[in-house]
Amino acid sequence: MPQATLPDPQAPQPIEAPAANPGGHPGDEVPPGTPQSAEDVCGRCAGRGWLDAGVCPDCAGSGRVTVNVGDA
Ligand SMILES: [Zn+2]
Repeated sequence: MPQATLPDPQAPQPIEAPAANPGGHPGDEVPPGTPQSAEDVCGRCAGRGWLDAGVCPDCAGSGRVTVNVGDA
């Protein structure tokens, strides 16, 4: 009679695969469920968050903006 196979506590646990990100790229920071949008470096201040005149009005100083990517 074969011995029952018990889970080996020393066995490496299967690593959960990262959530699928269809149409996206690694590093995208858009929350799941955000339709047709993606966060990207602000093009106006090149990600600095500041312009010569002060805080970048496009990204409010964050250096990042959420852009509408539409249907690719
Ligand atoms: Zn900006």
